[in-house]
Amino acid sequence: MQMDFPPGLYIVATPIGNLGDVSARAAAILAAADIVAVEDSRVTAKLLRHLGLHKKMRAYHDHSGERDRGELLAAAGQGVVALVSDAGTPLISDPGYKLVRAAHAAGVLVTSAPGPSAAIMALSISGLPTDRFLFAGFLPTKDKAKADMLAELSDLRATLIFYESGPRLGRTLGVMAKLLGEAREGAVARELTKRHEEVATGTLAGLAERYAEGAPKGEIVLLVGPPLETADAASEEQVEAALLEALDRLPTSKAAGEVARRFGRDRKALYALATELKARS
Ligand code: SAM
Repeated sequence: MQMDFPPGLYIVATPIGNLGDVSARAAAILAAADIVAVEDSRVTAKLLRHLGLHKKMRAYHDHSGERDRGELLAAAGQGVVALVSDAGTPLISDPGYKLVRAAHAAGVLVTSAPGPSAAIMALSISGLPTDRFLFAGFLPTKDKAKADMLAELSDLRATLIFYESGPRLGRTLGVMAKLLGEAREGAVARELTKRHEEVATGTLAGLAERYAEGAPKGEIVLLVGPPLETADAASEEQVEAALLEALDRLPTSKAAGEVARRFGRDRKALYALATELKARS
């Protein structure tokens, strides 16, 4: 793909496992780049080899100093500087934030070749609500800090997305089940786009039990569904109103499923109620 690229800083997303996911535009920007700023040159060298490119690489991390940023931005004022991370979209739990801010401050063009990100892929295949979500990155490792962050997020009406490691997964799920509710829905998305890709869904208690023994291998995204509106908190009128509203948009079984999930109710009972409400209207 032959393209002309004006001078600037290009944030280039790269695959999260399967090299086939590099976009044609990302490849064209990398081909045109005067400098490729990287997290780990060994990782990016593999991708460049796959694309048949030989490029000047330069290490960049958020703890790189003002001088490194200054040099990269001076180069981006004259030519194409591409920033990549080891996998996925740079800046998403990866370096680049300070560089992008500095580029704006210096009046340097900032643009992107968008592409894979494990958080978004996991959300899209988790079966959890996607209308509102919060990406929270990696949880703190210390128990107290982890509990504090979960307490801060617990009532948010949104799907929560975390990056987590295999060895910590079981313990984190146990803490989540305790603090966010055993019946709350969750999903564990592992090794996305790779040979052993897997998505496990269920309640937080069920997932905690599943991963209690033995750390799963590979890279992991952990998702938590929005809080259940419990039977105690919601009156029958509220449930009926939600069901009527859902019936306006959805077929009976889907409406019953949606409201059952939202209020933590039995799906079959809500299906029967939905059929009755439809017959009455
Ligand atoms: N910038 C990346 C992105 O856009 O997804 C994330 C970088 S962060 C340092 C790395 C974490 O992302 C991993 O520890 C894991 O939690 C998640 N991750 C990356 N690739 C993944 C994959 N193929 N499957 C599941 N999770 C993945």
